[in-house]
Amino acid sequence: MAVPKRKVSPHRRGNRRSHDSLKVEAFHECNNCGELKRPHNLCSHCGHYNGREIVAVGL
Ligand SMILES: [Zn+2]
Repeated sequence: MAVPKRKVSPHRRGNRRSHDSLKVEAFHECNNCGELKRPHNLCSHCGHYNGREIVAVGL
């Protein structure tokens, strides 16, 4: 079994974990229906993007 050659120092361990935190996902209000949607993505609720209907959503 592979074994670490030396103990990881607290500084090095902290450097490694500096990228571990989870980020809050970005959300934006849809201009058409007001639902929350991902920015630069068409709205999954009404299918609109940039003021136009891109995908017809069956009701
Ligand atoms: Zn929408």
